[in-house]
Order: sequence, then structure tokens, then C-alpha cells
Amino acid sequence: MSNLEQTLSIIKPDAVERNLDREIKEIFTHKGFNIVKEKKIQITKPEAEQFYKVHETKPFYNDLCAYLSSGPIVVMILEKENAVLANREIMGATNPKEAKEGTIRKKFGISIDKNSVHGSDSVDNAKIEINFFFKD
Ligand code: UDP
Ligand code: MG
Repeated sequence: MSNLEQTLSIIKPDAVERNLDREIKEIFTHKGFNIVKEKKIQITKPEAEQFYKVHETKPFYNDLCAYLSSGPIVVMILEKENAVLANREIMGATNPKEAKEGTIRKKFGISIDKNSVHGSDSVDNAKIEINFFFKD
């Protein structure tokens, strides 16, 4: 049965800074994702704090929000069958050292914090995150 989904992807500052956004977008399109919307923006620290609110009790929260707001990012709505899970698979594990061969984080991630991409972790969060960046 068909299960077309949308998910939110972010190419993080470490990857945009190294001009990897085009190559990362090609990985997604070659894997059959349709990039429905995209924009290159820089967000403020309060916006990053709102986006990552689920992590507000974590020890890495402040550094994470400072980092996500430190430079330009590319935010995209990706569409594909089972897009949420498919994106998590192509991204790889949070820690690039643990990410499987062939994943974006294995290929481009620098460290657990500078891991090149974000992807929604559930269909419900994908809706919230898409709305956060693309409320028309
Ligand atoms: N992060 C970090 N240190 C950690 C765990 C996570 O800096 O010990 C950062 C990392 O950039 C990660 C983000 O916080 O991508 C969100 O963490 P999450 O556990 O949601 O990982 P993800 O869903 O991005 O794989
Ligand atoms: Mg997450």
C-alpha cells in the first residue's frame, strides 16, 4: 500500500560551510526523494531553542542551539514513500563514528554535534517541524 510521507531535513552549518549542500541534495534525489520546498536561511538562537525544545533538559542543548544558529542552513521538505524512516536511514546514526557506510553522516559528519544533517524522527514531529519552517 502507498504511504507517501513528508519529512523535514536540515543541512546543518558545518555542511553548508563546506559547500556540501548540492552534493547532499543529490544524495536525496538519487534515493528517490522529491525536494518539495527548500530555502537557505540563518536562524536566531531563540528560534533554534524553540526548534530543539524537546532537548531542553539535555546537557548539550545550549551548545546545540548556538551551533544551529551559527551560520546558514538549508531546510527542505522531502517527500517519498515512508520518507521519515527512509531519511533517518540515509542520514545514519547521530554519532558519525557509529554511522553505517554509505550514510550522509558517515560520509560528511565531523563529530556528534557537527553531524551535517537533521531529520524528523516521526511523522508527527515531521508535521510540527515542517510547519515551523514553512508555515505559509
Ligand atoms: N547532539 C549533541 N550531543 C549529543 C547528542 C546529540 O551535540 O550527545 C546533537 C546532534 O547534533 C544531534 C542533535 O543534538 O543531531 C539532536 O540530537 P538527537 O538525539 O535528536 O539526534 P538526531 O535525531 O539528530 O540523530
Ligand atoms: Mg532527533
